[in-house]
Amino acid sequence: MQPPDLGIETTLVHGDRTDATGSAVTPPIYQTSTFVFGDADAMAAAAQTPTFERFYTRYGNPNHGAVERILAAIEGGEAAMVSASGMGAISSTVVALTAAGAHVVAQRMIYDGARALVSRILSRFGVEVTFVDQHDTQAFAAAMRPNTRLVMLESPSNPLLGITDIAAVSRIAHDAGALVSIDSTIATPVNQCPLDLGVDVVLHSATKYLGGHSDLIAGAVVASRELIARIWDTHHILGSTLGPFEAWLLLRGLRTLEMRVERHNHNALAVARAMEAHPRVTRVYYPGLESHPGHAVAKAQMRGFGGLVSIEIDGTFDDARSVIDRLRLFHSAASLGGVESLVAQPAAMWPNSSTSADARAMGIIPSLLRLSIGIERAEDLIADLTQALGG
Ligand SMILES: *Cc1c(COP(=O)(O)O)cnc(C)c1O
Repeated sequence: MQPPDLGIETTLVHGDRTDATGSAVTPPIYQTSTFVFGDADAMAAAAQTPTFERFYTRYGNPNHGAVERILAAIEGGEAAMVSASGMGAISSTVVALTAAGAHVVAQRMIYDGARALVSRILSRFGVEVTFVDQHDTQAFAAAMRPNTRLVMLESPSNPLLGITDIAAVSRIAHDAGALVSIDSTIATPVNQCPLDLGVDVVLHSATKYLGGHSDLIAGAVVASRELIARIWDTHHILGSTLGPFEAWLLLRGLRTLEMRVERHNHNALAVARAMEAHPRVTRVYYPGLESHPGHAVAKAQMRGFGGLVSIEIDGTFDDARSVIDRLRLFHSAASLGGVESLVAQPAAMWPNSSTSADARAMGIIPSLLRLSIGIERAEDLIADLTQALGG
């Protein structure tokens, strides 16, 4: 184990090491469902331990443990747990921390799957939810009830990069006796450490920046040892287990997380500034811009502003669609956080697309484009956008 004051860059490279690593510089892939015990006593003892890396892979695996040690260290948490997807992490967490009769307060602007989990699935099991505007800190206070168990945040949120005042909302939730979770996928631990701001549980879709290469689906939870034990207890029963090979790929991606995120931050700010100056772009959403309504809060709680930029085109749904079709470097694809730049039209991905009143009420206008800015040269991306916009 290394001293706790190492930089994030160093922890990403060395933070998974244990005394048992052996001689391979790159850890082996434990592509096994189960592990051999020397005798019956050793097996019985292992079965009594709440978390283990060498019992049965649905319970844990050395490749999980490597990723979990790094994630706990860089988020500043005591423990971490990986899962087969971001939604696996969110589902295990929310199911573990609620029960029939419980109330959840969640941001209205939150990942679709998380919203559906509480409003469509957990509602069938007697969990109630109140959705609030993430920018209105007092709305969180007003929504709290005696049975509120969990407050679910996402900051920056997708696709309009809304910023929640994480410390203020955490205080409100704790005063009311509730726990706070945050989906910190878009920020990454390079840009934001929510545990330091009072949050109890940090959630990630590791499919995005943590993996970083658009080649795996994974999720992660970081929290106190006690909370991870509670969430794991539900998780290993629900069964969204990360495969050992995906965990190994995720570790490989994590090695370069800091460098990649620095480049994403740099490129996205350059693209956001260029788009702000473009005559065919009527609005740019990027928390690093002074014009963004959440900029002051973002500056106080983030070290960098991430790689997502959303822009409103002066035109219709179809005009925005033809901008996508003229782009050469940006791939038209769902997801975000990979090395390559991607573009998506949120109104087309929302149920009932461009006519949805809900989407419009949340600010998702038909000509909105969400850009996941990759690690290419910023000038190349700006040139591609400029030609596609017809400027
Ligand atoms: C992609 C994403 C998720 C879901 O993650 P999966 O790995 O696809 O299950 C959750 N939250 C945010 C913010 C995401 O971008």
